[in-house]
Amino acid sequence: MAFVDLPAGSGFHSRKEPFATECLNPYVLRNDFPILSSSVHGKKLVYLDNAATSQKPRIVIDSLNRFYRETNANVHRGVHYLSEKATFAYESARQKVQRFLNASSEREIIFVRGATEGINLVAQSFGRDRIGENDEIIVSQLEHHSNIVPWQLLARQTGARLRVIPMNRQGELQLDGFESLLNSRTKIVAVTQVSNALGSITPVKEIIRLSHERGVPVLLDGAQAAPHMPVDLQELDCDFYVASGHKLFGPTGIGILYGKAELLEEMAPYQGGGEMIRRVSFEETTFLDIPHKFEAGTPDIAGAIGLGNALDYLTTLGMQRIAEYENQLLLYAEQAISQVSGVQIVGTASEKAGIISFVMDSAHPHDIATILDREGIAVRAGHHCSMPVMTFLGLPATTRMSLAFYNTREEIDTLIEGINKVKKVFE
Ligand code: PMP
Repeated sequence: MAFVDLPAGSGFHSRKEPFATECLNPYVLRNDFPILSSSVHGKKLVYLDNAATSQKPRIVIDSLNRFYRETNANVHRGVHYLSEKATFAYESARQKVQRFLNASSEREIIFVRGATEGINLVAQSFGRDRIGENDEIIVSQLEHHSNIVPWQLLARQTGARLRVIPMNRQGELQLDGFESLLNSRTKIVAVTQVSNALGSITPVKEIIRLSHERGVPVLLDGAQAAPHMPVDLQELDCDFYVASGHKLFGPTGIGILYGKAELLEEMAPYQGGGEMIRRVSFEETTFLDIPHKFEAGTPDIAGAIGLGNALDYLTTLGMQRIAEYENQLLLYAEQAISQVSGVQIVGTASEKAGIISFVMDSAHPHDIATILDREGIAVRAGHHCSMPVMTFLGLPATTRMSLAFYNTREEIDTLIEGINKVKKVFE
C-alpha cells in the first residue's frame, strides 16, 4: 500500500495513512484560503460559485507577491540574473502543467489568457488553414459560449458550418446522434468534458474514439473538468485541450492550451509580435519552435508561476481524492436540495461533477441568488454562458451552486436554510 508524506496543514486527517483510507479534511484545508474566513452582509461567507472562479490558496497569493518583489524581469530576452531567474520560473511552470495533465512534452503546453483564448487560438490557427467552405465543425448542445462562438466566427470566415451533438432532458449527450453527424466533411469535434451549466460529465473517451476512427481531431474544453478530476492527456488522446488557470485555484488572466506536437508544429501562429520570432525582416519573418511560436508578446509571467504553484497544491492533495470528496458532497447536496418541496434540480445526468442547477416554483433565479447573497451565500443565477442549454430546456435561467474541495456539508445545510428563507419570502 502506498504511503505519502504530506506537509502539515495540507488538509488530511492524518499525515501518514494509506491512500485508500485517506480523505480530505476541508475544515483544515479552508485555512489555506484566506478569503474563506471572511463575512458577507454580517454572515459567514459560503462560497458556492466555484464554477465561475475558485478561491486562491495562500501559496498562490504569496507567490504573486514574491515574484514581483524578488524575481520580476521579462522572460526569454535578457542574459541578466533576474531575467534568467524569471525565465526559469516561467518555464518550470510550463513543466508543472505538463506533469499535472500528463502531456508527453512541455512543448505541447501553451500559456494563454484562459480557456476562451485557447479555443480561439485553435479555431483560428488550426481552422483557418484546414477548414473550408461546406466543411463541418461539430460542437455539442451542452457547450459554454466559449466553445461555440469562436467556431461560429471561423464558420463565417470560411463558409464552414456548425453541427450540434444533441442532448436529452437529463443533460446527457446522445452518442447515437453524434455518430450520425460524423462524415467526410467533419474537420474537428469540439466538446466540453464537464458542462458548466448542469455539471454533466460527457462521454469524451467514446467521442474521441469515434472521431479518431474517422481521422477527425478532437478539442476538449476542460475548464470545468481539470479542477475536479484527474486528467491524463496521454490516456485521453485528445488533440487539443483547454483549461482556465483561475478555476484551477490559480490567478486570473492565465490559461492552458495543450496541443499534440505534430499538430502545433504544422499550425501557423495565431498572433504575431515579439517573443515568438526567430528572424524578422520586411520581406520575411520566421518563427520560433513550439510552444513559443504561439506566445506573442510578454506573457503573464506571474500568472503562470502562480498557476504552477496552484497545481503543486492540487497535486499534494491528490486529484483522485478531490474527485472522491467532491462526489460525496455533491450527492449530499443533491439529496438535500431534492427534498425541499417546490425546488427542481435541472440536469440529472448519470455522471456529474461539482455543479447543481435548480429552479423554484415560487421565485426567479435572480431573486433566489439575491436573497441567498443576504445570507452570505454566493451562487450564480442566469444562463451561465450556455444559452443553447437553457433554450433546449425551455428555461430562461437557473440558480447554480458549484463546489470545490474546501466546501463542507455544513455549508450545504446553510444553503438549504437559505432556500427555505426564499420560499418563505415568495410563498
Ligand atoms: N468553458 C467552460 C465549460 C467554462 O465553464 C468556462 C468559464 N465559465 C469557459 C470555457 C471559459 O473560461 P475562461 O473564462 O477562463 O476563458
